[in-house]
Amino acid sequence: MLINNYDIRLFYKCPMLLQLNKYGPEHERDFHPILGRNKHRSRKSDPSKEEIIANTAKTLRKMENGDSPINQSWLHTEDYMTKIDRLYKVESSSVFGSYSYITAFMRNVKHIRKTLIMEGVFNTIILSSIQQNQPDYFQILRKEDTLTINVSEYQEELMSDLEKIEQVLNKEITLTPNYTRNCRVCEWRKYCKQLAEDRLDLTLISGIGKIIKKQLEQQNIVDVPSLAQASLSSIDLESVKPEVKEYYILQAQSLMDKKERVRDNITFPKRKYELFVDVEGSSHHNFVWIIGCLVRVDNEYYYKHFIAESQKKEKEMFSAFMKYVESLNNDYTLYHWSLAEPQYFMNLAKKFKLDTSNVSKLVDNSFDLFPIFKNKIIIPVYTYTLKEVANWLGFEWFDPLVDGATSIILFDKWYMHNDRKSLEKAISYNSDDCKALLITKDYLTKRLTS
Ligand code: SF4
Repeated sequence: MLINNYDIRLFYKCPMLLQLNKYGPEHERDFHPILGRNKHRSRKSDPSKEEIIANTAKTLRKMENGDSPINQSWLHTEDYMTKIDRLYKVESSSVFGSYSYITAFMRNVKHIRKTLIMEGVFNTIILSSIQQNQPDYFQILRKEDTLTINVSEYQEELMSDLEKIEQVLNKEITLTPNYTRNCRVCEWRKYCKQLAEDRLDLTLISGIGKIIKKQLEQQNIVDVPSLAQASLSSIDLESVKPEVKEYYILQAQSLMDKKERVRDNITFPKRKYELFVDVEGSSHHNFVWIIGCLVRVDNEYYYKHFIAESQKKEKEMFSAFMKYVESLNNDYTLYHWSLAEPQYFMNLAKKFKLDTSNVSKLVDNSFDLFPIFKNKIIIPVYTYTLKEVANWLGFEWFDPLVDGATSIILFDKWYMHNDRKSLEKAISYNSDDCKALLITKDYLTKRLTS
């Protein structure tokens, strides 16, 4: 079986994904109801042998003619096959004459992921074998600039991984999933979660990925029950702090008996107003479109939202929010989940050259609920997302199918196609996020304040 560039992409995204896309039970794939089918097509749609041969012949003719650039090129060797965005002619002799080619991706990506790098190295290896000249680099052409990636840095790793990829494709080895944060947006997430639960896999512990898992397995700690029984002094994990090791053990115990573990008490600020805030931005359109705020005062609460219906309205929206906050005379605490909210506020203040002292006050009055979990209290969940924590506390989102990723899609539907219903759905999701924060804060008050 030919290994193709798509196999490389899948393998570096997650080796299990490669295995499941080839041999996984199709009925277990769980396409997201709003995001729909994602990019992981079934291997059944691989090109036929005839197609590969015919298209490679076309590319080779262009290379022999010395054309440049050559778009959408197909190349194959005895073992590998790839489709390349672009080939560029460079001055360095090859079987074609006094010139040879380098490969290039046309991708306007912000972050260069390993998947793209390894696919580029794979393309270069195939090209080298055909033109009998190995380029030192390949390129990534972005809108604003061109990146040059050195091939030799990654080649050895790829060559060794190609053996494993071949074994997976030939069913010579069977992988098991590492259930990590990346699984949240994967169509196999339910299936892999079940497999991990069946094995009580160590990666069910939030924060344990394949590297820590391997180190633990080498010490005969092979699953959640064995970690739950381990003592702190018996675990040897390089560069993991003792408090984190202790967390791993307590988390394993919590998953086993389904009970919380309290590590420390906390004190919440006592102020008149409590604001439970969730901010959503569209990275695609590059602006913050909603600041949702559930306000609690004197045991009454109400939801307010500040919306920017277009990029031009962003400043107006943020100013209205700041004006509201300032009207509370500094007698408030703003509760949020993770570092995104304070970051949004500071960025907006900088962007619109607003008085940063007011925004600094807002940030000073902010309280992040996320790090309380794990550090002060451990509950029996696999990941500490607001959704998983609040779900465990019994809170249900009005529309359980909407999540952070779908809320972005809903916003896009409204913004691009003026779909009002999508906007309402996204606002409703935002208000549920704010309610989840309130419920979580009340739970922490009950369990951690004496
Ligand atoms: S759910 Fe996770 S482990 Fe399974 S294939 Fe997807 S990313 Fe890999």
